[in-house]
Parts: sequence; structure tokens; C-alpha cells
Amino acid sequence: FIQVRDLKKDFKLGKTDINILKGINLDIEQGEMVALLGPSGSGKSTFLNVLGGLVPPTSGEIMIRDYRISDMTENQLCLFRREHLGFIFQSYNLISTMTAMENVALALTFAGVKKEIRKERAIEALEVVGLVERMNHKPSELSGGQQQRVSIARALVNHPEIILADEPTGNLDSKTSEDIMDMISRLNREDNQTFVIVTHDPEAAKYCSKVIHMRDGVIERSVSQ
Ligand code: ATP
Ligand code: MG
Repeated sequence: FIQVRDLKKDFKLGKTDINILKGINLDIEQGEMVALLGPSGSGKSTFLNVLGGLVPPTSGEIMIRDYRISDMTENQLCLFRREHLGFIFQSYNLISTMTAMENVALALTFAGVKKEIRKERAIEALEVVGLVERMNHKPSELSGGQQQRVSIARALVNHPEIILADEPTGNLDSKTSEDIMDMISRLNREDNQTFVIVTHDPEAAKYCSKVIHMRDGVIERSVSQ
């Protein structure tokens, strides 16, 4: 379903290239729920961004279904992301001038959903993350954890096949983390959505069928559980 072959990513730092991803190989089946663990700076977010076509790889290959992500143009990637992927970002990336509901509905605008049903669907998604009472609040009027839940609702609203989540429970207390992970694993079971979840939280990793340990730009080991 997802195949990654010898994926490398360098970043330029002044005149030198630094190797951040040093040859990643990985296969993920449809409907799998994968946890990606590793020390800070090991390349987890970079890997997720390259996997989702947000950052181009330096070399190597990424296939999702029959799509060769690593060869797509920016336009093709844009369409592919809207149709197949949901992102939960480590830094939320919410639009500060929009309310929680509008932030979630925006994802539907991009996906071409008709105006009349956007609001209804956005509210449904906010219900899932337990934030309907706060739907008219702007990000600055929400706590960190609440903003995180808005970003989760935004990723889920369009029912994407694949969800790439960077620390989805990173700023949540343990009760809310548990709720979010329960919700994610329910979606995984019921809708067969595939999740790749970067996390530092061993409790969150327990929900996953596979745990991948990254270190210094490579996969150190991969454990099915
Ligand atoms: P954390 O757990 O702290 O989020 P991470 O494993 O997600 O860490 P990355 O964000 O992928 O780590 O960063 C890996 C390395 O790549 C870091 O050393 C970082 O400084 C570097 N890096 C990331 N993005 C860029 C960039 N755009 N330009 C240059 N270096 C970058
Ligand atoms: Mg990161």
C-alpha cells in the first residue's frame, strides 16, 4: 500500500549538505496503524513531510497505491494530498483569523465539497474530538490541547485513506490523549484508515500494530505487536 525505497533527504546548511534521512526502507499495509518513535532530531517530522509529498526527497522512491509520489509535479501532489491524505502537524498550522469551525471547513473547501454541507460536516468532525462548544472560538482563544484537537478534526473531516500525524497527543493531558487514541483506533478499525503516527508517548504507541524506531535518519528496528 505504502512503499518507501532507499529514501534520502539532505538539507543545505550554508554550503554543506547535511543528510537527514539516510536511506529509509518501509512497507505499510492498508489499514495498518504505525507508530514512529525516535529521539528529537532523528528525522521523524522530515520523513512524514516527505512521505506526504510536502517536501521533495533528495533521492529514493515513494509509492502510495499506484502513485509514485516521488515523481509527481507540485500540482499532481496537491491533488493527491487533497484526495488521499490527512495531516496532523506538530505545530497545528491553524489559521489564526478563522474560528475552529472555519478552520475545519476550509479543508472541505479545498476538497471541493459544496458550501451547504461544509458547516454540517465540520461540526460533525468537531463533535468527534469533543470541541463543538468551542466551534466559534479562534485559535488564540483555545488552549494548546484544544487547538490540537481542531487540527485533528481538520485532518479527519474529509475521511482520507491515510492520515499522517505528527505528535497528535503531544500537548494533551493523559486523559485527552487516551480519548484521541481511542478515537483514532476506532477510525482505523471501522473505516480501515491507515495511520502513521509520530509520537514520544509509549501509551499512544501501544495502540499501534507496528512500532518503528528511527535513529539518526535510519530505521533502527521495526516491531509488530
Ligand atoms: P522532534 O522529535 O524534535 O520533532 P524530529 O525527529 O521530528 O524531531 P526533524 O524535525 O525531522 O526531527 O529534524 C531532523 C533534523 O533535520 C534536525 O536536525 C533539523 O534541524 C533538520 N531540519 C529539519 N528541517 C530542516 C530544514 N528545512 N532545513 C534545514 N534543516 C532542517
Ligand atoms: Mg518532529
